[in-house]
Amino acid sequence: MNLDDFRGIWVFLEVSDGRIAPVSLELLGAGRQMADKRDVPLAGLLIGDGVKELAHTAFPFGADQVYVYDQKIFHEYRTESYMRAVIECVQKHKPEIILYGATSTGKDLASAVATDLETGLTADTTMLDVNAETGLLEASRPAFGGNIMATILCKKHRPQMATVRPKVMKALEPDESRTGEIIEETMELREEDIRTKVLKIVRETKEKVRLDEADVIVAGGKGLGSKEGFALIHRFAERIGATVGASRDAVEAGWIGHEHQVGQTGVTVTPKIYFAIGISGAIQHLVGMRNSGLIIAINKDPNALIFQACHYGIVGDAFEIVPLLMEAFQKEPD
Ligand code: FAD
Repeated sequence: MNLDDFRGIWVFLEVSDGRIAPVSLELLGAGRQMADKRDVPLAGLLIGDGVKELAHTAFPFGADQVYVYDQKIFHEYRTESYMRAVIECVQKHKPEIILYGATSTGKDLASAVATDLETGLTADTTMLDVNAETGLLEASRPAFGGNIMATILCKKHRPQMATVRPKVMKALEPDESRTGEIIEETMELREEDIRTKVLKIVRETKEKVRLDEADVIVAGGKGLGSKEGFALIHRFAERIGATVGASRDAVEAGWIGHEHQVGQTGVTVTPKIYFAIGISGAIQHLVGMRNSGLIIAINKDPNALIFQACHYGIVGDAFEIVPLLMEAFQKEPD
């Protein structure tokens, strides 16, 4: 494989509810910086049915080009059909890097493509950079149980690939004056060639906890001591109109459901305000909330790691501090 044949940075543009998923726009922001550093084009790869018009969304967010496969066979996401389109496009245009959102679609597609192309994939990346000279993608993520941050390189294969969770990268401020080129592609693929058929899509009706969209999160940890103790977090959140988050240890203790978990194996959040109460600040928790606008920590151990990651820290017992805060929030402003 001649690595010099590969040039340009791509972002897989995932379509969700009839629009380009926010994570894909965030990745265009990260991709733009790397493309400028390398002086190569940034392209989006858009696959679907009736999606061509969506390509225009990508230009204000930094894309120079969008490759589009707009065919009926891509109406629903299926690993096999999408994977074949990505592989065909890669073999034709040879990008050096491809980024995907670490969504269920992105993770499924990226791993299938990596296996077929026999190239490397870094999953759940939290930091991305590229070496301007060598073109090596530097994809960093917590490793060895979160005890270290590992930067993973793919030296001998192309394209270099990574998945990145929603909200980890920042989208660029859209510049509506930016335009780009739409490159239409078609794939010879018949329905009979695809082994899976989508018979029905059943949407979950249970109300979802939208931690990733919350403006204010009150998160509680093992320091609350018990399920009854954790109720303090619910009361505080309700008082200030916040969403409840939790550390993994609080979830594992059965005090709250996993959908509330923040961190490496939970949700990545970027609220305007994040209260971390009775949470020690393990790296696996921090990677999920450290990009919050304002972090306020309450912990009775002055040496807790969370105090190194917060903007305001209160050393004290949550059961004394939180009621005082609740009282203060109830007061009418002077
Ligand atoms: P602890 O570490 O036990 O901390 C409790 C804190 O509460 C202490 O700092 C203590 O001083 C304080 N405290 C005690 N009593 C009070 C009180 N009355 N008032 C105020 N403070 C008090 N963790 C996550 O959160 N999210 C993840 O996604 C995640 N993924 C993981 C993935 C892997 C592969 C691994 C190995 C671990 C993961 N973890 C994750 C677990 C993580 O390493 C920590 O174990 C966990 O975050 C600790 O939870 P905690 O801070 O609630 O509990």
